[in-house]
Amino acid sequence: MNDIFEKIIAREIPAEIVYEDDDVIAFLDIKPVNKGHALVVPKRHFRNLLDGEEALLGRMIAAAKLVANGIKDATGADGINLVMNNEEAAGQEIFHAHLHVIPRMYDDNAFPAHRHTSYADGEINELGTKIKNAIG
Ligand code: 5GP
Repeated sequence: MNDIFEKIIAREIPAEIVYEDDDVIAFLDIKPVNKGHALVVPKRHFRNLLDGEEALLGRMIAAAKLVANGIKDATGADGINLVMNNEEAAGQEIFHAHLHVIPRMYDDNAFPAHRHTSYADGEINELGTKIKNAIG
């Protein structure tokens, strides 16, 4: 499948690559949430978390740890968010799996507070059981 990340992996378009090994590549996002925001991308294409091969997802997390520590050291960030958008409804725009590694500073207000909802009586147990059964 040909997509923008495939082109970066193939060096057909430029990117600021900060880490690479046999399985993954990491480069800076061109529209960062904060400067230093990187994307960790598997070299073998898959769409997102939902169809990813476990071993390769594991390689992405291992690379994200290295990249996160590098970003933290280089930028002086106070913390790091690891974000993965899976499917359009969750904000995925590029359908080649990727982890966002985002440096955060106290009070940067990069993400507005999450909306929270609540469960009716018994609903958390009912839904928990349904999810457990779906996992199998
Ligand atoms: P998504 O919304 O799919 O989780 O995130 C896709 C990310 O890819 C966005 O944050 C966007 O800024 C980044 N992006 C899109 N096109 C390019 C590109 O050509 N180069 C780089 N470095 N990042 C890109």
